[in-house]
Amino acid sequence: MEFLLQNSVFRMACSQFDRTADFLQLPDAVRERVKWPKRAIAVSIPVRMDSGDVRVFSGYRVQHHLTLGPTKGGLRYAPDLDMGESAALAMWMSWKCALVDLPYGGAKGGVACDPRKLSLRENEAITRRFTQELIPFIGPQVDVPAPDMGTNPQTMAWILDTYSTHIGHSVPSVVTGKPLGLGGSAGRNEATGRGIAFLAHHAAHQMKLPAECRVIVQGFGNVGTYAAIAMAQYGSKVIGIGDVSGAIYNPNGIDVVALRQFVDSGRSLAEYTEGEHITNEQLLEQPCDILIPAAKEQVITGANAAKIQCRILAEGANGPTTPEADAILDQRPEILVIPDILCNAGGVIVSYFEWVQGLQSFFWTEAEVMDKLYRILTHAFTQVMRTAEEKKIPMRIAALSIGIRKVSDAKAARGLFP
Ligand code: NAD
Repeated sequence: MEFLLQNSVFRMACSQFDRTADFLQLPDAVRERVKWPKRAIAVSIPVRMDSGDVRVFSGYRVQHHLTLGPTKGGLRYAPDLDMGESAALAMWMSWKCALVDLPYGGAKGGVACDPRKLSLRENEAITRRFTQELIPFIGPQVDVPAPDMGTNPQTMAWILDTYSTHIGHSVPSVVTGKPLGLGGSAGRNEATGRGIAFLAHHAAHQMKLPAECRVIVQGFGNVGTYAAIAMAQYGSKVIGIGDVSGAIYNPNGIDVVALRQFVDSGRSLAEYTEGEHITNEQLLEQPCDILIPAAKEQVITGANAAKIQCRILAEGANGPTTPEADAILDQRPEILVIPDILCNAGGVIVSYFEWVQGLQSFFWTEAEVMDKLYRILTHAFTQVMRTAEEKKIPMRIAALSIGIRKVSDAKAARGLFP
């Protein structure tokens, strides 16, 4: 699996793992066993495009470990997706699931494509053929995909349908993040963003920040939108939002719901007039109380970590902060980092609720879902804070050390076969 190291995101996940393994003093044999993914699957996806031409797309699925139950993780549709990025994201999913005590290993994958350039029919054809190729490797007790960048509940519905047609009966628990009418869970769509806002608000309260915190959000997709809306509902003022087309900044506050409606009407954030247009790089460096990167990985780097001006860095995206940036942030005690595997865990927690509800065919109300979600997040946050304080280590290493320790203990308890 050394070929994965060609990818910078995978090298970053390994660097975080190695730093944490040093802290935990994991013996070499245990490190190797815990670190590398169990399975990395690559498939070719031939699809007839609307033009009549046939294009072959590359699809990936990496299953990091199978020690605690099925694997779980999102599917990403993005032009530059590759096996290394999938492996990094799968690894982070493993530590995240373990941190919040879910009975899963991590997985991630998707298709190298630009969903914005596909028709609905082309997107469906890619999804169904990709699912067909993955049938031996997925299932409610094997590996359960969910949405990530570029995919959504409709993608999950197509996967559910393709898989169920193959099996011969409906298998809703093969995916999570599916539409409510097909057995989705109340609150799943909003869960990641709301969980981020809940933790950021909780931390702000503990740090005695003003009730009307100034918030900046990078990314205005599923995660960024619900995080921004929930922060506004907590009484914060969202002063900056960015997406792939650029960023908008307004120190008087942005009406997030109005901006969402504007973008949903087919216009781009770059066309919105209620604020100043700046670049995504400038957005990250504006003064604020809470900064939420919720777009892509590696946006807070050695080049800008000294320039960010927030009190709480609430990581909505996976891997937004590079190890070089971490080294700088470790020297800036005025900034509390809520690391990705804790901060955005709301998505997989409610995915777990959806999986459990589906297996039992017994469904919960949104209030029950959110109550259970917030209890788990509060417990995990307290554990991570306490570990960081007691061991005098950064929040990221504290969170990773709890997750990695649980996976290595589980592997040790099961032993080595044969
Ligand atoms: P999405 O596709 O719904 O939205 C992504 C957003 O990021 C879009 O607004 C897009 O315009 C923006 N973006 C893309 N490239 C950008 C760039 N270069 N600069 C600025 N903005 C850019 O995806 P999502 O589901 O919201 O996921 C966002 C992040 O959160 C990803 O890192 C994902 O892995 C992570 N995450 C998602 C979930 C979930 O439940 N969807 C759960 C946990 C973590």
